[in-house]
Formats: sequence, structure tokens, C-alpha cells
Amino acid sequence: MSYRHDKEKAVNVQVLVRCRPFSEDELRFNTPRVVTCNEFQREVAVSQTVAGKRTDRVFTFDKVFGPTSQQIDLYNQAIYPIVNEALEGFNCTIFAYGQTGTGKTYTMQGECKRSKNGPSGELPLQAGVIPRAVKQIFDTLECQNAEYSVKVTFLELYNEEITDLLAQEEISKASLEDKQKKVLPLMEDGKKGVLVRGLEEEIVKNSDEIFTLLERGSAKRRTAETLLNKQSSRSHSLFTVTIHIKESTPEGEELIKCGKLNLVDLAGSENISRSGAREGRAREAGEINKSLLTLGRVITALVEHSGHVPYRDSKLTRLLRDSLGGRTKTCIIATVSPAVHCLEETLSTLDYAHRAR
Ligand code: ADP
Ligand code: MG
Repeated sequence: MSYRHDKEKAVNVQVLVRCRPFSEDELRFNTPRVVTCNEFQREVAVSQTVAGKRTDRVFTFDKVFGPTSQQIDLYNQAIYPIVNEALEGFNCTIFAYGQTGTGKTYTMQGECKRSKNGPSGELPLQAGVIPRAVKQIFDTLECQNAEYSVKVTFLELYNEEITDLLAQEEISKASLEDKQKKVLPLMEDGKKGVLVRGLEEEIVKNSDEIFTLLERGSAKRRTAETLLNKQSSRSHSLFTVTIHIKESTPEGEELIKCGKLNLVDLAGSENISRSGAREGRAREAGEINKSLLTLGRVITALVEHSGHVPYRDSKLTRLLRDSLGGRTKTCIIATVSPAVHCLEETLSTLDYAHRAR
């Protein structure tokens, strides 16, 4: 794993790119390909025609996953070591960043359903980072001789407002519009850092339970979207797993480790480039830009050690403050489409991701 270590302040940011395969429609229409991945050289080449002349722009990343890469390949090569860090008591964050339709949710969640035929505990091939990480966590904890607890929270950030995706409450238009009740406040709590008041913490006992939780969260997200005419591409979702481990040393001493793993499915990156600041959408576009833009600035400040890190400028970066910078691990998965009609967004995604290196 190629983390860049800095002697003074350890900043560990890993940036990888995943290019999805062509969709059936794109194949049917013989859509030209403009993205070529070289996994061995860790390069992504984007071909453009400028003034009638073809030029390639080549970007290098920590890892590159081409269109034929499987969920398990990405997981084993890039995510597995990070989850181990969380099990060792560090705070880690994995972001999926990219244009809508390029595979952020596929990568993070993937196929959410438990496989029906396979033995319990076996993951479907399409399972994404979240179920695989939870399985790794339980597989590791179950063969250690230690007491542990695993808790998860799942929230959505839309318009800089936080809603709980796990709270089991009646969902209706009236209840959703009752802002006072549904929008959770972000509080600063001296020692503990930030805290979302009223956010449900679900204790998980085994990895199978995760599928029920993911399905519950996703269903709630869909209902709210329909009832409130939300655009899913504009929301961020944050799935957090907190692991507490109590170990006894051979000398009979007690050792407590607490690690956190944040898995973030970001709003579509097109929300940054096209400001969309028109008419009634102005506030919404501005607020969405805020978390995505601030995240970019925070990561740049951390990577460049440029002093002031603007955590406070958005909800997302306030929420993740204890997991970005310092002794933490961050991984950004930039997702892109291979198709010619996405060229412009692909270039801006790769530029954003490259700046984070
Ligand atoms: P996003 O969350 O970025 O908007 P999705 O994850 O919903 O995008 O992906 C869009 C479509 O492309 C979905 O139908 C998804 O199943 C498919 N897809 C995305 N990435 C891959 C991949 N690596 N392999 C196969 N199908 C993919
Ligand atoms: Mg999505």
C-alpha cells in the first residue's frame, strides 16, 4: 500500500480511480470510448480532440481499476488494509467521488441483498465496500479473544441538513416536512468532538445484519426523495462503523481500542462544475457545492500542510473532522465513465482527484 508518509505530520491520503464498463445502451449505440486504464502503470488516459488533433491526457494515481475489475479486486487491493487500520483503533474514511451514473453507489454498496442460495455469511459477487468491510470486521473480531462492540450509524446530508437513515419512524410528507423533528442538529461537544444529536446508533451483532440496515436506509432515502422531490444525485450519505475492542494483555492489563470507519457516497460531482445556481435552485446548489468544495479544500490543505484546514466551513467536514488529518487514513475512489459524452466531467473528476494526491 503506497501511503505517502510525512515525518512531521502523517497525512495518509490514497487516491484511486475506477472506470465503469459501458452500459447496455452505450454498447448498443457503439458509444466511443475516451478513457483507457493501465492498471499496471496505475495510469488513466483520456483522449480528446482539440482543434482536429487527438491528444491524450494521462493521469497517474495510487491505484487504477479498469472496467473489468470486480468488486472483490478493488476491495482486496485497496480497502482491506484500511479496514485493518480501523480494527487497530484508527479513524479511516473512504469516499466515492464522481459524476452521477459512474458507479459511486455500486462501489460503496453494490448489490445490497444477502445471497439467497449461498451459505449464510457468504457475500454476493456484486457486494460493495460497505458489506465487505463489515464482514471483514466481524471475521477478524470473531477469531480474536477479546470483548468487542460494533455500532453503525447511517445519515444523509442534503442541503447541509442531516437526516437519519436508520431511525424507524413513520414516513409521510407531513412528517418529513416537520423540519424541527427530522433535521438533526450537529453539536460541538468539547471533548468528544462533534455529535449529531438524536442520531440512532444501531448495535450490530453479525455481518448478515448489515444487509437489513442498508436496505432500511436505502428505502428511507428513496421514500423521502419521492415525497419531497429530492434529487438523489445532490445528497451525500455517510455510513459509519465504530468498533470498540477490549483486550487483556498477558500481564492482565486492559487495553481499549476504538476505531472508526466512515464510508461516504458523495453527491454527484457535476454539482460542483455546473454551478446550477439558477432561480430557486440557487440555495440548494450553493449548499451542495459547500460540502463538496470544502472537502476538496480540506484535503488539499492536509496534503500540502498549508496551515489552516477549513473543517468548519461545511457540515460534511465538521462531521468527519476527527477522521481527516492527524493519524488517520483517507481513501478517495474517483469513479468515471468510459464514454465520450462524459468527457468533460471525467476530466474534472480526474483533476479534482489528482489535486488530492
Ligand atoms: P452513481 O451512484 O455514481 O450515480 P451507480 O452506482 O448508481 O452510479 O451506477 C450507475 C449504473 O452503472 C448502475 O446500474 C450500476 O449497477 C452500474 N455500474 C456502475 N459501476 C459499475 C461497475 N464497476 N461494474 C458494473 N456495473 C456498474
Ligand atoms: Mg448513487
